[in-house]
Amino acid sequence: KISVRGLKKSFGSNEVLKGLDVDVAEGEVVCVIGPSGSGKSTFLRCLNKLEDITAGTVTVNGFDLTDAKVDLNTVRQNIGMVFQHFNLFPHMSVIQNIMLAPVELKKLDKAGAREKAMELLRRVGLAEKADARPASLSGGQKQRVAIARALAMNPGIMLFDEATSALDPEMVGEVLQVIRDLAAEGMTMVVVTHEMGFAREVADRVIFMDAGYICEEGTPEAIFSNAQQPRLQEFLAKVL
Ligand code: ATP
Ligand code: MG
Repeated sequence: KISVRGLKKSFGSNEVLKGLDVDVAEGEVVCVIGPSGSGKSTFLRCLNKLEDITAGTVTVNGFDLTDAKVDLNTVRQNIGMVFQHFNLFPHMSVIQNIMLAPVELKKLDKAGAREKAMELLRRVGLAEKADARPASLSGGQKQRVAIARALAMNPGIMLFDEATSALDPEMVGEVLQVIRDLAAEGMTMVVVTHEMGFAREVADRVIFMDAGYICEEGTPEAIFSNAQQPRLQEFLAKVL
């Protein structure tokens, strides 16, 4: 469960988040859409405090990330994050990439981590690539490994930032399917995406950000078929 109150973020004198209030319930899938530069990535990065928070609070499973006494590493272990660029370790095999964090952070012994990694690889349809190097994989395959790696820590929350936007079109579907499966299993997720069809299908709620504000939010139906704000109507006219 995520609870954001009055979140502001400035880079120098540039205020890019201007006071956001957001709740994400357990098992809820929230998609974030909006124009380039509206603050979507910055918002997502504040949810595990990859950015310093200028004002307001971000509470994850009861832990206030702006409280200096809270152990960030413990909170972050429960949050998986997948970016546009997969950032796999090139000198390690696929399975080593997935086993790394669970073993390093001593959540599992090596045998247990390997077993768990194989299970995740089967889940994303890549069991036969366990011993391959990332460089030998397609973009869609790399991204599925990145998702498996994030899942290896058994996170309760997954954050996705434009996970498909660096992919060739024919590889988008296989990655979206993995995210769709996670949604069906009840994973709590915040998904920044420019795939409007996907947001419409998979989101419980859609947030439209514009210029550092939440301009409008609602069910996919309300956002895509009954937009109220002119800024959202303009945005949809461009992207749909
Ligand atoms: P896009 O759709 O292009 O990914 P976005 O909605 O994710 O855009 P952000 O990346 O959150 O937008 O950026 C919001 C604003 O914050 C932009 O004006 C950007 O230049 C600024 N910004 C983001 N990161 C930094 C940084 N590390 N230092 C300074 N300014 C930044
Ligand atoms: Mg972004």
